[in-house]
Parts: sequence; structure tokens; C-alpha cells
Amino acid sequence: MPVAAEYPLAPDSTVARFALPAPLPPGDSLVVDLAWEARLSAIPRRQGRSGRHYDFAQWYPKVAVYDADGWEAHALRLQGELYGEFGTFDVTLDLRADQVIGATGVPLEGDPGWTRARAAQARGRKRVRFVAEHVHHFAWAVDPEYVHEEGRYGGVPIHVLYRPEERGTWGGGLALASAIRAMAWLDTIFGAYPYPQVTLLRRIEGGGTEFPMLVMLGDAGESLIFHELGHLYTYGILANNEWKEGWLDEGFTTFQTGWNFRRRGMGVPLASTQQLVLNLDLDGWSQPVVLPAEEYSEQQVYQRMVYTKGQLILEMLRYVLGEETFRRGLREYYARGQLRHVTSDDLRRAMEDVSGQDLRWFFDQWLKRVPRVDYRLAGLNRRREADGGWLTRVVVERRGDGLMPVDIAVGDDDTTLVVRAPGVAARETVEVRTDRRPRRIELDPARQTMDWNYLNNGRGGGRVEHRLGWSGSEPARRDRLVVNWMPLAWYNDAGGVSVGFQSRRNYMGRFARDVVQLTWSTGLEGGGPHPVGWYVALRNPTWLHAPRRTVGLETWALEGRGGARASLVWDKSPHLSFGRRSTIGVELAWMGVTRGTFLSADRWDRAGTVEVTGRAAHLWKEDDRSWAVRIAATGGVVGKGDRRPYVRGGAEVVRRRQAGAFELRARGYVAGYAADGDVPRQRRIFAAGADPYETFLNPLLRSRGAPLARGDVHYQAPGGGGVRALRADLAGRWIAAANVEVSGTVFRRPARRAFGAVSVAAFADAAVGDSAAVGGS
Ligand SMILES: [Zn+2]
Repeated sequence: MPVAAEYPLAPDSTVARFALPAPLPPGDSLVVDLAWEARLSAIPRRQGRSGRHYDFAQWYPKVAVYDADGWEAHALRLQGELYGEFGTFDVTLDLRADQVIGATGVPLEGDPGWTRARAAQARGRKRVRFVAEHVHHFAWAVDPEYVHEEGRYGGVPIHVLYRPEERGTWGGGLALASAIRAMAWLDTIFGAYPYPQVTLLRRIEGGGTEFPMLVMLGDAGESLIFHELGHLYTYGILANNEWKEGWLDEGFTTFQTGWNFRRRGMGVPLASTQQLVLNLDLDGWSQPVVLPAEEYSEQQVYQRMVYTKGQLILEMLRYVLGEETFRRGLREYYARGQLRHVTSDDLRRAMEDVSGQDLRWFFDQWLKRVPRVDYRLAGLNRRREADGGWLTRVVVERRGDGLMPVDIAVGDDDTTLVVRAPGVAARETVEVRTDRRPRRIELDPARQTMDWNYLNNGRGGGRVEHRLGWSGSEPARRDRLVVNWMPLAWYNDAGGVSVGFQSRRNYMGRFARDVVQLTWSTGLEGGGPHPVGWYVALRNPTWLHAPRRTVGLETWALEGRGGARASLVWDKSPHLSFGRRSTIGVELAWMGVTRGTFLSADRWDRAGTVEVTGRAAHLWKEDDRSWAVRIAATGGVVGKGDRRPYVRGGAEVVRRRQAGAFELRARGYVAGYAADGDVPRQRRIFAAGADPYETFLNPLLRSRGAPLARGDVHYQAPGGGGVRALRADLAGRWIAAANVEVSGTVFRRPARRAFGAVSVAAFADAAVGDSAAVGGS
């Protein structure tokens, strides 16, 4: 009896419901005949077609799973995948005779095209019957050009199908060797593979997708092969609901790949992976790892939580249990769960049963919440005992809401003792006895947890890396402060040659981004009392951390000017990985003049200011175009004599567009100030470029006779009215300016380091400004 389809999630059409003509009692059964037509798209997305190559994935009406939570009929979306019921698939394919087939299951009748000479079969059709048991999907692909290679792991045949032009990366047993390594590794961590075959085939699309017994790959890279073959276990055999607990397959297979690769000295260091997730945790983008896929705010967050954090959770579970117990737990989970639907609770119970530990705290914390872990070495006492040995008391302070046992390393370069503290109490004291006086004490010495602040984890070195280099060569480290030392030298007429150094620091690229700069002017005119200049900036100390906020404190005494600035900037972007980038900020700044001899008289008056500024910036970016809008408003007081107030503000709009090899850039700028009388020269609106406060940290522009500030040098710092060809010191009460630029590379020699490209640029600037605008004398 025919029944009509209903679409309960309309306008979505990926879920259909058929009302049975009569209720089906428990334990009863019925036979359903479904007729459907599957059309593969020319734009591949898992399925797809290209010429006579066809990738058939998710190509037939699939019965929704009814499990402990009821019907799991989710719409198909980008985030999250599919969940199928186990069954037997008996599939007969009717094809052109020359097609070569890779499929879930084993061929029982007909020729899949693996062995016989192809030329003889170019005409006519063939029927090939595949049967697959205990699987929850049946996928297949055909291509008349497929080259077939076969090998074995244990008793299990492994089929590799690739296109002839890929012989260099797939052929000659290369893909096969990676597959055998992966199957051997998976066998050791989980157990024996239960299906009768494994197929790896080249699909149209890049990347890879897993199906029971079959993986479709865009290339034959070993990490992709490990990832996808891992899914034969986690997804295929241990069949989790990918919509709800994607970490059980994606996190697991990412974890097993990383584990294997690091054992072989390959792959991504764990610290880099931790940092990817910590950045999202610290900025409040993270969501719980177990969440229905469509509830993630965006694809990037889904990926990071399910794949990357899922991987790290398993790393930490191994750390908590120890490798031997963890391995036993994996085998137990596999033995109980294979060829069934599994959940995070099944994994937890297997691990609890082998370890004898209650692990609810671990699974709840990492899967349902976004905990912040931070342990600090809060106290240390080393004392010589009567027997000549040493007693070390270590006080561990828990500063985050996340709990993890804490390994404590006590020792020196030769011998290190590692003890473990439970990490539950807010403060706990651990005693360690050693033969010699320990020089190095460190929490989590192997960096296996998500402790976000390693700077407070130890004593005795190893957490600061000093480098010599120019700015731009400052790497970010997960577990160390990087201090970059840079020598400085510059010249201006007032100070002569100045020499000194700058040290820039950072932790994880985001914390402790401090700068200390010290310089000495060798040729100060008339001797003078201030040959030493300094600049100190403290940015984002770990103890002031808040999500998406940047804090800065700066102070300076540089070439006759002293000052300080405090600033706060909030990132207000609505999404992590796309859409508008927005920041708002506020700052309080004082700039005073202490020594007039350094001032370029055409840009600076001898007067100090105190200012409060509010700023906002928005950037909209698409593939080949962008809009940027920046506005700032300042209220200030001239600090000298009668303390005159003023207000100052500006707005800038920049439109960029890529047109072939050329970039078009248009900019509009308006700015002005209002004051009772005049403001000091340095606070006027500069017509040609950025004003003296904006360029103050640039030694080539800062002081009288600096190389780019000389009257005979026509240099324009980007900013201000941006009217090129005007004198750099021309400044007035207001300006409205427009700048248009076209630039492009007309000739490129990529192999050459010198003269590797020729670019051309053209520009036009127009402005109207204040007739009272003045230049220097
Ligand atoms: Zn995957």
C-alpha cells in the first residue's frame, strides 16, 4: 500500500516521515519498499560526479535510528554528520562493463573490475552484487580508470583504488603501506578488525570521509589515511551518534593519529594543539564538547571543540589513568561496544571498570563544561634532613575551576622525581624526599594538561627563552615566556646618535606582551641632564586576563618628552571566524614636554596635554573586497598655564577591492578640533599624514633633524589627511580628504629573491581644509 511522505522539518527536505497504514506492535515487523532516484551533483560534497567517476555517499533513504533517546531524525547540516542503524546490505549494481568499483562489503557475484583486462569489457553492461553485514551505511564509488592494488593486514584484504596519474603518491604500494601501518596500530590500541575487507579510494573532493569498511580520500597523505582508517573503528565499528557526540569519532581518530605520529617523532606538537583550544577557551568562544551539532555557534567552533578539544580530552584521560590502564580501558570499550551504538558513558564506564576510579568528574567537566585549569607553585621549602637527604615541601594552589591531578617534578638535570597531587583542594602541600638538593621544581613537567598559565608552574629556569632578533621574529610559546632582544640605533640633530636596546616579550602570543626600551643619546647638545631615554609597556598581564580584552599600560621619557598611557580594547566581533571584526577602546594619555631642544618647531609646541579618547573600528571583509570604518573622539586639556580644554575627533572609511592583478583603494577622512583659541601644534589636524602623537614611537620621525622629519625629506607617515605632495608639517583646525589609489604587480619572477616583482601604483588625493592651516616657519 503506497504512503505519502511528510516533511516534519520543512522547508528542510532531508528528513521525511511516512505514516504507517496501521500501527506496528512491539516485536512485529514489516517490509518497506522504497523507490527513489539519487542524482549526484557536479559540485562534490561527499557524493559527486565528474566525467564517468561517481562517488555515492549518503545516496539512499536511510532509516533514522531509534535509541535510548528516541528517534534521532536530524536534518543534514554542515556541522555534524549521519547516524545510521546497523543492518545487512545486499546491493546489486547494474553498470557499464568497464567500471571499476570500490564499495562497503564484499563482491559475491559479478566482476568489480579489479583483475580482468579492461579493454575487452568496454562495451555492454554488468551486474555486480555486494553484501555487507553489521554495517550502518553502504557507500561506493566507480571510475573506469581506477588502478587497483591489493594487500593484507593479518587475514584482512586491503584494496586501494586510485587514478593512473596519481601513481607517484598512491601507487607502488605507498598508500597500501600507510594503510597497513594504520591497521596494525588500530589493532594494538583497540583490538582485531571484525570486517572482511578495507577499501581506500580516491574520491573527487579533497579531504576524506569515512564509511564502514571504506574510506574516500582526496589524497594519500599518511595522516589522512590514519585519520580516516581510525574512523573504521570510531564511527564504523564503535558507532556513535555523530550529531550529539561527534568527539567520540572525530576527537578519537584525531587523538589516535596524533598519538601514533608523536611516537614516531612526527606530526604536530601537543603544545601547539593545546594553544589552539586555549585561545578559544580564554576568549570565551568555546562551547561544551558534547552538544548537538547544530547548537554550535559556527563551523570553526564545532571543529575545534569536536576534533581538537576531543583529541586533548583523550590525551588528558591517558594522563589521568596512566598509559597502561588507559590502553586496557580502550580495549575494554572496544570489546563491549563493537558493532553497536556507543556513547560517552560507555567509554567512561569501561575506563572506570579497568581503573577502579570514579571518572564522572572528568567526563562531566570536559564534555559538559568549559573549565579553566590553572595550578600555581605557591610555595617552596627545601630543607636538609639529619640523614643528609633533602625534604622539599611544595605548595600547590588551584586557581581555576577545572580539576586535574598535578604532576610535580622535583630534581635537577640528572635525576628528577615525579609525584602526583590530587589537585582538588584550593591549596595542598606535597612533601618529596631526594638525595640531593633539588634545583628544578615544576608542575605538569610534561605539559599534558590544559593548564593555561605555565608561567606560574615552577622554579629553577626553563620557562624563559631569550632570543636576539628584529621585531617580527618573536615566536609564541605555549609553555614559556619568549624574550626578544633587539639592539637599537638612530640619529637626530638634538641627541646625535642614540644607541640602546629593546626587549619585547610575550607568552602564548597574547599575554605579557611587554616592551622595555632603554637608549642613550651620545651627542646631546649642550650636555644636558637627560641623555637616557626609556619606554616601558605592560600589555595583558596574565593576572588581568578577561576574554577578548586587551589592557595596556605604557610610560616613557624619550627625547625631551615624558608621558603615560592606559588603554583598554574590547574585541566585539560577533563571530570567531567570519563576518565583521569590531573593536572598541578607551584610553587615558598624558604627554608632557620636558626639554624643548628635541622638538621639531614645525610640528611641536612646548606644551603638554592630558587626553581621554574613545575609539571604535569595524572591518567587513569578503573574498576580494573590504570596508573599514574607524572613528575616534578625544577630550583634552592643554596642561600649561590656564589649562585650556579642547575636543578633537576624526573618522576614516577605507574601501578596498581587488580587480584582477590590481587593488583599488579609496579612503575618506574627516577630522577636526574645537578649542577656545588654539591647541599646541602637535594636536592640530595634519593634512599630509599622521600627527606627531601617532608617530611618536618612531625614532625616525620623533625629534628635530630625525631622518624622516627633516625639511628636505618628503616623507608622509600613513594617516591624517593623507594628502601626498603637501608639506608634512601643514596642519589646521579641520580637514575633509579623499584618497584614491590603484596598485598592482605587473611582472613577477617568483624564483628570484632580488627584483622578484615589479609593481606600479597611481594615486590621487583631494582635500578641503581650514584656511588658517599653518606650516612650520
Ligand atoms: Zn574525521
